[in-house]
Amino acid sequence: MESFPAIIADEGGPAVMGEVFESGLPEGDVTVDVHWSSLNYKDGLAVTGKGRIVRSFPMVCGIDLAGTVHASDSPEWSPGDEVVATGWGLSELHPGGYTTRQRVRSEWLVHRPDGLSLRDTMAIGTAGLTAMLCLLALEEVGLEPGGAGEVLVTGAGGGVGSIAVMLLSGLGYQVAAATGRPEIADYLTSLGASSIVGRAELSAASGRPLQKERWSAAIDTVGSQTLATVLAQTRYRGAVAACGLAGGSDLPTTVLPFILRNVRLLGVDSVSAPPALRTAAWSRLDADLPRHLLEAATTVEPLERVPELADKILAGAVRGRVVIDVDGSGT
Ligand code: NDP
Repeated sequence: MESFPAIIADEGGPAVMGEVFESGLPEGDVTVDVHWSSLNYKDGLAVTGKGRIVRSFPMVCGIDLAGTVHASDSPEWSPGDEVVATGWGLSELHPGGYTTRQRVRSEWLVHRPDGLSLRDTMAIGTAGLTAMLCLLALEEVGLEPGGAGEVLVTGAGGGVGSIAVMLLSGLGYQVAAATGRPEIADYLTSLGASSIVGRAELSAASGRPLQKERWSAAIDTVGSQTLATVLAQTRYRGAVAACGLAGGSDLPTTVLPFILRNVRLLGVDSVSAPPALRTAAWSRLDADLPRHLLEAATTVEPLERVPELADKILAGAVRGRVVIDVDGSGT
């Protein structure tokens, strides 16, 4: 019987390299030959077992996948179609992308956007999709290039942050990049950041819910005190898209930024984002993401290195995006 290499999590320990059999593929109406996946913060939590991500064991990890349709019972998809899936409970409730063949539900798939290779889609992955969802949320409340003040991106050296910086700067915004790694300042400037903010400046508790107005808008991947400070420093009628918790899931603030400065706090989720929104986001990524910057922010790694990389991303030591060459073919 055919078997496929996979990164598999079992209860009580980190995920390890193993194999899955064709007969063990989950329910679903489309079977995909997976060529590429990616590494996100959530993959770090799932693979190390340090976050309660996986909800049924054993579980093939990997919240993203890109590949070609192997077989389909859905009229929407045919063998050979190039497809992408992100989120939707992959690696949580449904086996994910760290294996060379996976079966998924047809409604989770999107077509590879015309201007992006399958590898590009995983350089973007959940992180890039989330960065775009944040941008769309900010645009929905009126953000546009040319306004006064910088747009702040926190956790800028990470996956969501790096793609947010390149997207915003590519569209003409002045971007302030907040990082805890001064050594990556040149990298962030090369992605288009116009200024660098030290992480500690934002994560130190001042206790003041209203501070000097600095940001016209922000994309926050950190949460906790950092998000509280960002809200306190956002200009009158500015908006903050909050998508992450790399610094913690609490939010020690008051209602004052909202009721005195009319600051808008916009929650962003990519996992269950509806198909129409995903399609719009992928099409904007295709149109707006500078490819040379995406390439500069991307490294490619083999499937067997995922357990080691999972520790690294949780330690905040991964820069930009990591693409996983799942089938080792490089295509
Ligand atoms: P990365 O690990 O690639 O990036 C996170 C970055 O946050 C790090 O690179 C680091 O940037 C910064 N950071 C790490 N630890 C801390 C800390 N303790 N305090 C302050 N900053 C810290 O992760 P991703 O980009 O994949 O994800 C970022 C966040 O967004 C995660 O919390 C993730 O769970 C969340 N997320 C949410 C999604 C959603 O649907 N809502 C989807 C995707 C991600 P630097 O070194 O530059 O400071």
